[in-house]
Amino acid sequence: MKAVQITPNLVQLTRAHFVNAYLVREDDGLTLVDTTMSGAADDLLEAATHAGGTIRRIALTHGHGDHVGSLDALKEKLGDAVEVSMPELDARIHAGDRVVDGKLPGSWPTIRTRPNVLLAAGDRVGSLAVVASPGHSPGHVAFLDSRDGTLVAGDVFTTYGKAAVTNHFYLRFPFAAMATWDKAKDLESARALRALDPAVLAVGHGPALRSPGPAMDAAIARAG
Ligand SMILES: [Zn+2]
Repeated sequence: MKAVQITPNLVQLTRAHFVNAYLVREDDGLTLVDTTMSGAADDLLEAATHAGGTIRRIALTHGHGDHVGSLDALKEKLGDAVEVSMPELDARIHAGDRVVDGKLPGSWPTIRTRPNVLLAAGDRVGSLAVVASPGHSPGHVAFLDSRDGTLVAGDVFTTYGKAAVTNHFYLRFPFAAMATWDKAKDLESARALRALDPAVLAVGHGPALRSPGPAMDAAIARAG
């Protein structure tokens, strides 16, 4: 697992060259945003140790398998000391509720862990403000670090080569669009995230971008 310090508060962890999780530094330890696929728990814990902290919170952008895959194994190792937060709709999907009509794209593996917190817009996870960004999945959220304007945007955008909204096919990372549930909502969310004017854009798939405004504008223009 590759670790890159993006800001003083943010470490990007990349697994298998295609999926990211993030460590967010807080006064009491670390928040892990997303967990990548299954099999990463030991590597994620080692990365946290290397970053000098303990994982206090796990916050998930959405319920797809490449983001929640190592949740159960981490929960097993960290026990009740760790607080797990998941967007409400995606947690309900995992619990077996039928929250939308029709088929849900993307992978929804069975997970045993029940979140302690069901996230809604305006909630906070440590220094992170929860921003509703539905579309890629029904409950998808992004996290804005109010200390430095870093946006952990999950799968609303990818950044391979250039930023792209996940509402349409993009050759460099076609899986993202294939897994997107509602393309119109996803584009609306891309606009909402752009309006936050983030200082850094950190996504589930691809490198982090600094001063990403123009790249987000271009991505939205291509997506419309
Ligand atoms: Zn993903």
